Amino acid sequence: MKGNILSIIVPCYNEELVLLDSAYQLGNLLKKLIKDKKVSEKSKIIFVNDGSIDKTWNIINDLQHRETIFSGISLSRNFGHQNAVMAGLSRAIKYSDMMITIDADLQDDINKIYEMVDYYLRNYDIVFGVRNNRKTDTKFKRWTAEGYYWLMTKLGVNLIPDHADFRLMSKEAVQALLLYKEENLFLRGIVAQLGFKSAKVFYKRKERKAGKSHYPLKKMLELAINGLISFSELPLKVIGLCGILMLIFGLGKQVIFKGNTISDLADLFCIFTGIQLLALSIIAIYLGKIFENVKNRPRYIIEQDTYSKSMAADKRQ
Ligand code: UDP
Ligand code: MG
Repeated sequence: MKGNILSIIVPCYNEELVLLDSAYQLGNLLKKLIKDKKVSEKSKIIFVNDGSIDKTWNIINDLQHRETIFSGISLSRNFGHQNAVMAGLSRAIKYSDMMITIDADLQDDINKIYEMVDYYLRNYDIVFGVRNNRKTDTKFKRWTAEGYYWLMTKLGVNLIPDHADFRLMSKEAVQALLLYKEENLFLRGIVAQLGFKSAKVFYKRKERKAGKSHYPLKKMLELAINGLISFSELPLKVIGLCGILMLIFGLGKQVIFKGNTISDLADLFCIFTGIQLLALSIIAIYLGKIFENVKNRPRYIIEQDTYSKSMAADKRQ
């Protein structure tokens, strides 16, 4: 018989303005799932405090004292959204059969969690939450997102358009995900690569009720570039290509005009810069790979884990 302990993992960074309301809504939903016997009564909501500097961790602590359905993990500092999600998954996997990740602001439709759990009970391992429109986004965000998905598809990266980090994964799928040791995670790319039997649920994404987005343009760009770099060597190849083009251009001019042009010096400059860029880019491909592998830094550091403590205590009883 398939296990049905669910953990809902909620990364939180400075979310004091929305957290109580989100906890209330998620708590009610989980209680209903338990009452309907869809999930086990050992199921939990795990808030991962990602080094917040506001009252987020105090609120999480209050919540877990008030109701056993809530629990928390606190990271030693801010490690970023993707790492906070991984920290939650890495602890939850010990006591859970399925795990759902969802943002603390509940912009994603929590009612879709029923559908996700149903898919899991029908033997699906991954259920992707997918936005059915981007009406709440600015035109700029819509265009850049479309351009990005187009580019990634052309590069052969299997991304699920309009899926972010609202998803269900079975224990087996999370186990596979945890085998990926790379430092800069791009979860939506890696999870889509895992394989497994998967499904999609579609929903309308709401606007954030309070607080502000932690993904301003600069961070969005970082995430996008990180996704590109970790799945493709194209940027390095482009440098090499520039080198080759400059080389051909410089040499071509020399051959055609037999070195009689007024810009001989400029042509020589082109040839040498071309050769140098080409060589540098080849070295950089290797260097980048080695650099990524040798650092082997922890993706997150857990300072407090009241979740595991409470689960271990439950087991002893
Ligand atoms: N978050 C996090 N660490 C960070 C930044 C964000 O844990 O360094 C969490 C944040 O609290 C939220 C989720 O990641 O639960 C997504 O962030 P946000 O809602 O700001 O992103 P947006 O929806 O604007 O893309
Ligand atoms: Mg949000």
